[in-house]
Amino acid sequence: MHEFTAEVEALAQEILAYSLDRLKNDPPLDGPRTAEDLLSEVGQTITARGLGGHHALEVFTSVLAKACISTDHPRNLAFIPSAPSEYANLFDLVVAASALYGGSWQEGAGAVFAENQALRWLSNLAGLPESAGGVFVQGGTIGNLSALVVARAEARKKHPEATRWVIACSEEAHSSIVTAANVMDVDVLKVPVAANGKLMGDAVAHAIDTLHTTSTKRVFVVVATSGTTNLGIIDDLKGISTAARERDIWFHVDGAYGLAALCAPSVRAKFDGVENADSFIVDPHKWLFAPFDACALIYREPEIAREVHSQHASYLDTLKDGAWSPSDYAIQLTRRTRGLPFWFSLAAHGTDAYTDAMEHTIAVARAAADLVRVHPNLDLICEPELSIVAFTRQGWDAKDYQNWSDELLADQVGFIPPSSHHGQAILRFAIVNPWTKISDIELILSRL
Ligand SMILES: *Cc1c(COP(=O)(O)O)cnc(C)c1O
Repeated sequence: MHEFTAEVEALAQEILAYSLDRLKNDPPLDGPRTAEDLLSEVGQTITARGLGGHHALEVFTSVLAKACISTDHPRNLAFIPSAPSEYANLFDLVVAASALYGGSWQEGAGAVFAENQALRWLSNLAGLPESAGGVFVQGGTIGNLSALVVARAEARKKHPEATRWVIACSEEAHSSIVTAANVMDVDVLKVPVAANGKLMGDAVAHAIDTLHTTSTKRVFVVVATSGTTNLGIIDDLKGISTAARERDIWFHVDGAYGLAALCAPSVRAKFDGVENADSFIVDPHKWLFAPFDACALIYREPEIAREVHSQHASYLDTLKDGAWSPSDYAIQLTRRTRGLPFWFSLAAHGTDAYTDAMEHTIAVARAAADLVRVHPNLDLICEPELSIVAFTRQGWDAKDYQNWSDELLADQVGFIPPSSHHGQAILRFAIVNPWTKISDIELILSRL
C-alpha cells in the first residue's frame, strides 16, 4: 500500500522545495482570474489517465496558486487577513502527513491533549474556570452556531412556555449571527449601539425587558462582539454580562478577531467582563498566527455542550467511554486536528512571543492611525481600539474607492477593498501580520 517509489520521492522533494520557497520569500500578492481564463490556460485537469504528480503540481504552482490572493502578504489588509507563523505552517505539513483523526480521544488522544492545552491557554487568558473547555472548529461561523445551539437548549429547559426564541446582539454583530439565526429558525433582536459604536449593558437590559413584557418571545442568548469586524470596536462586556446574568440568559462573546488580543497587556482591560462568558470564540487563523482554518470554541460548562452536540449511533457507542472527545462539543463528527499547527507554534515559541507579536501589530496600527490623522486628504473614523484603522478619503464616492482599490491590487501594491460605515464608503486596514511595517502603510497612503 505504501509504495514510496522513486517517483513519489521526487514529487516529495518538489513539494517540499515549493513549500519552503513559499515560506522563505515574501509571498506575491497575486489576484483573481476568471474561470474561462483559467480553463483556457490549464484545460481539463481531471482526466481518465491522470496528469501525473509533477505535471499536476506544475499546473497548481504556475497557474492556479497565482490566481489566489496571498492572505499573508504584509500589504494584504483586507477583511481580516492571516499571518501564520513559519512554525505553524511547517507543522501543518506534519499534520497532513500523519493521518490524525481528531474526533475522539480514543483515536487521537495525543493530538487532542495538545489541542486542549492550547485551548486552556485561551480559556485562562479569558479568566474562565479550570473546568471550562471546548474544541477547535472550522471557523467563527460554526463556532458561533455551535455555541448558540447550546444556549438555546439551556433556555428550553428553563422556559418551556416560550413561543419563539430570540438572539440579542448589536447592529454591528458579525453576519454569522444572522446566519446562525436562519439555520436555527430563531429571531434576532438588534440592539442599537451607543455613540461610540459599543453595545452597552443598559441598552441590552432595556431591549430584553421591553421584548419580554410585550411578547411571548424570549431572548435565549446575548451575543457581545469583541471586537467588531469592520471597526474593531469592543462591546461593553462587563455591563452586558451583568444584564444577561440578572436575567439568567446565556452570555456569548464573539471574539473571532479581537479576543486574540487577550494576550496583549496594553489592551487587556478592554475585555473586562469576558470572564463572565458562558461561551466564547476566537479564531487563531485571524490574529493568532495560525493557518486556516481554526476557531477556538470554549464553554464555561462543557458538559452542557456535550449533552447537546454528542452524536449517538450503534457504531459510535464504543467511543462513549467518558473520555474527552472533541466531536462532542460542536456541530461536527469527523474532524481534522486543526488546532495542532497553532499548538505547535505556541509550544515552540512560548506565550511571550505571542504577546510581543500582538503588541507589535497593535503598535503598527496606532502608528498607521497617526499617519491617517495628519494626512491632508484623509479622515480617521475612530481611534483604533485594537488593530483596525478605518478612514475616509475626502471628496470620493463609492466608485472612486473601488477604482482605487482595484488599481492598488492590479499594481500589486496592496489589497485594501472598500467597506462601508453608516452607508458611507470607507477604507480600512486590518493589521494582523507582524511583517506589516509602517513603511508598508506609508506606501499605501502615498497613493491616497
Ligand atoms: C470573522 C468573524 C466571524 C466569522 O468567522 P469565520 O472564521 O470567518 O467563520 C465571526 N465573528 C466575527 C466578529 C468575525 O470577525
